[in-house]
Amino acid sequence: MTTYLTRLGTGFDVHAFTEGDHVWLGGIRIPADRGVLAHSDGDVALHALTDALLGAIADGDIGTHFPPSDEQWRGASSDRFLAHACDLVRARGGKIDHLDITVLAEAPRIGAHREAIRARIAEIANVPLTSVSIKATTTEKLGFVGRAEGLAAQAAATVRLPEIDLATADETAERRS
Ligand code: MG
Repeated sequence: MTTYLTRLGTGFDVHAFTEGDHVWLGGIRIPADRGVLAHSDGDVALHALTDALLGAIADGDIGTHFPPSDEQWRGASSDRFLAHACDLVRARGGKIDHLDITVLAEAPRIGAHREAIRARIAEIANVPLTSVSIKATTTEKLGFVGRAEGLAAQAAATVRLPEIDLATADETAERRS
């Protein structure tokens, strides 16, 4: 029987606002009175979540896998980043148990888009809807978020990985001997 170890990874991302008429958030295009300055589509929720998954498997960060200096990622749709991180977890025999995101922004408000975002993330990550949570908060007008200079997201990803690495195998052998 395979023994699984639970791993929790966290991620954080920020993008500045600029002129525009929409913001990508959690894989959903949300109409807004501004846009986001970014090399990719600037989806802070998917970027934070991608980093959380990479953190759970200790495999670098979004910049390691998708360097901003690489022209092929200019304007890239961030669902590709999230899908890649999910693929890396599953390539190790891992299971994605839960994805939890908090968006920090004065605007846009996500309430009306919450279920669409959950459904989109569940689709990209190929997990049940009940395994995806998205929450939002303002920062009470404080800091760069409060001044509406940009928005941020933090995320946590809980995954299970099979206990197969050599160090662990050695420890187990020692305990038995
Ligand atoms: Mg980013």
